[in-house]
Formats: sequence, C-alpha cells, structure tokens
Amino acid sequence: MPAPEIAIIGGGPCGLILARLLESKGVVDYLVYERDESDGSNPNEGGSLDLHPETGQRALQEAGLFGEFERYARYDDTVFTITDKLGNRLVEIGQGRDAPEIDRHELRHILLNSIPKEKIKWGHSLTIVTLGEDGKHVLHFGNGLVISGVRLIVGADGAWSKVRPMVCITQATPKYTGKTVLATTISNANPLYETTAAKVGPGSSLAISSGKYIMTQRQGDGSYRTSFGVHSLDNNPFSGDIETTRRLLLSSTYYADWSEDHKALIRQATHLRAWPLHSLAAEDMGWMSVPGLTLTGDAAHLSFIGGEGVNMAMADSLQLALKIVEHGMNNLDQAVREYESGMFPRGIAGIEEGKVMESVMHGEDPGAFIQLVSS
Ligand SMILES: Cc1cc2nc3c(=O)[nH]c(=O)nc-3n(C[C@H](O)[C@H](O)[C@H](O)COP(=O)(O)OP(=O)(O)OC[C@H]3O[C@@H](n4cnc5c(N)ncnc54)[C@H](O)[C@@H]3O)c2cc1C
Repeated sequence: MPAPEIAIIGGGPCGLILARLLESKGVVDYLVYERDESDGSNPNEGGSLDLHPETGQRALQEAGLFGEFERYARYDDTVFTITDKLGNRLVEIGQGRDAPEIDRHELRHILLNSIPKEKIKWGHSLTIVTLGEDGKHVLHFGNGLVISGVRLIVGADGAWSKVRPMVCITQATPKYTGKTVLATTISNANPLYETTAAKVGPGSSLAISSGKYIMTQRQGDGSYRTSFGVHSLDNNPFSGDIETTRRLLLSSTYYADWSEDHKALIRQATHLRAWPLHSLAAEDMGWMSVPGLTLTGDAAHLSFIGGEGVNMAMADSLQLALKIVEHGMNNLDQAVREYESGMFPRGIAGIEEGKVMESVMHGEDPGAFIQLVSS
C-alpha cells in the first residue's frame, strides 16, 4: 500500500473533521487510520456533545457540513435543571445557549459520510512510531502494516496517543484526576423511562452534593443517559461486575443518602460503564516542533471533561487544515509550527478550564457550578 502524504491517526471527531476539511480544500492525498474494526459504533458508548459557535460549529461551517449538522442539532436541549441531592428543583439555567447538542455517533456518521470510504482504514491500530535510518518516521500497526515515507503524521488518536511520545521530550502521560464517571442509558424499555422523561424533559437534570454528582441528559433518540461523577483514589475502582458496582454506588461512600429517585437510577441501571478521567498538565504543552509530525485534540491536550473537549479538538483540526492550505504541501513544517503556536495556548486554557470544571462538578453543592455556567 503506497504511503499517503498525510496520515491521520484516529477517526474520532478530530481526525474525521480534519479529513473532511482537507478533502473539501483539495488536499486529497491523506488517509485516516482508525483502531475500530468498522463503524459499528455503539450509541451507548457515546453520549451527547454540545457544539460551540467559535469552535465546533465553525469547523462544521468551514467543512460545508453545518446544514447536515442542523438536521440532528437539538437546540432545546441546552437547559439544565439543577436539583439538590433530595431531588428538589433549585434553578433552571442554559435556556437559549448557542450550544446545540448532537449525539457523538450522529456526529461521527455525518463526518464519515463526508469523505470517500476508501480514505478510512478501519482495524488499523497504531502501536508505535519509530525513526527510520533516514531519520524519517515509520508507523507500525497492530495488523502488521508498516508505513514509511509519510510527509505529515497527525496524531488524532485521543487520550492514549501512540504518536505523542514522538513530540513530547518529557514523555508526558495523562494523570488520573481522582474522579471517575460511570454512565448508563435509560431507554424507553426501562421502567424508569416515563418518570425520567417527565422530570427531565428536554436538556439535563443535574444534582451536585458532597463532591459527587448525578446528571441525566436527553439523547437524540429520546433515551436518557445518566452519568454518576464520583471521587475515587483508585484509578480503576469499578472494574468488578455490575452488581458489585451497583452495591458500591449505593453504599454510604457514594449515594446512600441521596433521594430514592436518584438511587432508582442506580438500581435499574442495565449497564454502568466506568471512565476513570485523566488529564495532561499545562506544562506538557509547548514542545519543540518536530518535522513531519504533530498532535491534535485529546492527543495534544487531554483535559477534564467540561463540554470543551470535542470543540477544542475540532478547532485544532480547522486551524491545522487552514495552515496546510496556506503553506502548501511543500512547506508542511511551517504549517505545523504555526498551527502549534496557536494550539498551545488553547491547550493550556483548556486544561486549566478543565480543572475549574472538575472542582465545581465535584463541589459541596451546585452553587459554584451555577455561577460558572451563568457567567
Ligand atoms: C465520559 C466522557 C464524557 C465526555 N463528555 C464530553 C462532552 O459532553 N463534551 C465534550 O466536548 N467533550 C466530552 N468529552 C471529551 C471528548 O470525548 C473528547 O475531548 C473528544 O472526543 C476528543 O476528540 P478526539 O478525536 O481528539 O479523540 P477521541 O474522541 O478519543 O478519538 C480518538 C480516535 O482515535 C482512535 N484511536 C485511538 N488509539 C488509536 C490507535 N492507537 N490507532 C488508531 N486509532 C486509534 C479511537 O478509536 C478514536 O476513534 C467526554 C469524554 C468522556 C471520557
């Protein structure tokens, strides 16, 4: 297989919008290498993402996909009903925010349909990047494929990027934040569906108390996704079976003193997928630019979840695509240097904002969260 001029590692939102932007701007010699075997993405894995005007929405506009996005975009779902841990309604915020929601698998579907099918190489899990005898990068994949001769490698391969070791002289690795989120879906077959739909309606319901939260959010297909955000010193405390996890969540360490309605969400959960949350540090930004290779999205600046991750990832791709077009294929290193000099401050700001979001989502009460999102 001949090497493409540009190899995009990872077909998440960041890698796919980059591919679409390059394609639409006439830079067509690229391939996306994605670890997943196919686009059989599980809707339960994803959740809903809100896209912001200057970042996610702008990237879609530049990619000529905003009209398609609007077919799925849920403008009514920006409302947050804040309750206390006993379920008493405190306040409603977020009405009319220009941050429409879209399910992750719907966004992926739009992006996948916008580039030629043969430009995505499914089942290609990058294992390592090495330096060849000629000093050029060599890509090694789990399926045995080895590629050299690529002019630009873009690491859009998320939190555990296999491209990152080549740019970070400090060998930056994400650190566990001490917080884990567990997610479940309430489909319309769930006994709690009717009451949840009546209580939450469009948008989300959020309760924050004693360092924990429970958020229930409507999804594109009308189901609800509930996330339990908890403290845990252990990096993987919820690795047992679902009954063990359920008991732990219902114990006095977590939600024993929350309302019966909140606890019913745990009792009726059909699955509880745990995401230990990791972040890079601001000091991990600002590496010396490496010819022929760069990072975008979570691979570059993984931060605590706070509604910015996908937006920042798409903004990175837009900036990189614009720089590649501006400087041309014969001046990719200049394009990368200029892209990175704009990306580093965005990455630092994202990591710092993530820390603020972490502290308010895990606060004693929802006061700081309300103040933050209302400001
Ligand atoms: C529980 C949770 C909730 C979140 N909620 C939100 C939210 O509400 N709003 C928001 O903006 N952000 C949210 N985020 C963050 C958001 O998911 C990320 O910031 C965003 O997906 C980053 O996009 P990306 O394309 O850079 O990385 P990813 O979405 O991680 O995509 C990386 C892609 O690379 C592929 N890949 C990985 N390794 C390899 C490899 N070695 N070889 C080839 N392919 C590989 C993966 O399969 C994947 O397709 C949340 C994150 C989590 C964990």
